[in-house]
Amino acid sequence: MVGPRRFPLHGLPRRVTVHEVGPRDGLQNEGATVPTDVKAEFVRRLVDAGLPVVELTSFVRPDRVPQLADAEELVDAVDPAPGVRHPVLVPNLRGLERALAHGVRDIAVFASATESFARRNLGRGVDESLAMFAPVVERARSEGVGVRAYVSMCFGDPWEGAVDVGRVVDVGRRLLDLGCWQLSLGDTIGVATPGHVVVLLDALAAAGVGPDRLGVHFHDTYGQALANTLVALREGVTVVDASAGGLGGCPFARSAAGNLATEDLVWLLEGLGVATGVDLDRLVDTSVWMAGQLGRPSPSRVVRALSG
Ligand code: MG
Repeated sequence: MVGPRRFPLHGLPRRVTVHEVGPRDGLQNEGATVPTDVKAEFVRRLVDAGLPVVELTSFVRPDRVPQLADAEELVDAVDPAPGVRHPVLVPNLRGLERALAHGVRDIAVFASATESFARRNLGRGVDESLAMFAPVVERARSEGVGVRAYVSMCFGDPWEGAVDVGRVVDVGRRLLDLGCWQLSLGDTIGVATPGHVVVLLDALAAAGVGPDRLGVHFHDTYGQALANTLVALREGVTVVDASAGGLGGCPFARSAAGNLATEDLVWLLEGLGVATGVDLDRLVDTSVWMAGQLGRPSPSRVVRALSG
């Protein structure tokens, strides 16, 4: 059993839900396309390591994201374990119908706080993309399927620069009003710092969006993801997105570091005495195995330290 010594800090939650995005957000941003059976094995290993939420894939157009063109096959290949959630992303009604036809019971839509990224990623502006999501959320909820909403570019945007906190609050508020149950606040280019995180969380709280409705999705591009996570926990957030082994480099910077590595997050939480249910040994083994499949080492500091 590896891990840090425990020194609890006052003011933190007792338990955090780690929302694992590696198979989707990680592999989507890898150059190589991974075979479906390897993805399914990856998901099984992540579940065996104790992760309670393992996002599977995205039902986007297969020609747009070839890495995820096997969405149906992967969903069919994964047998959900009791109590484990396997959300998938859907961009529109067509994606939702594809997912529902394969028994998916947990979905997410992906919005942007900025016009530039909304147009690049979704082919339409913020207002039009929210209008596109409205019937998706309605249809999903009519089937008893919960909808999480990702909000990209919450702290900065590569085309627009600084992102006004008020815009993030506005987009987030509107997504919750559509019927989404949780917002995932994305620092897509990794420029957030802890004070900025607190300013955004305070602004959301002032708009009636408390930490119980939020997850945080930090990128480690500039090495700030764990510091940002710690202040978010102090503000009451209990859902943190991370990617096993740090899979998925930053597509907007020539950097190996994109998604916060799940191992780095779990090491921090173990040191703080915050429960996650994740077995760090098994998780590291999984990321080392996956790195072998991809043919390159994991960028996670914890994976490197424990497997060196
Ligand atoms: Mg990400």
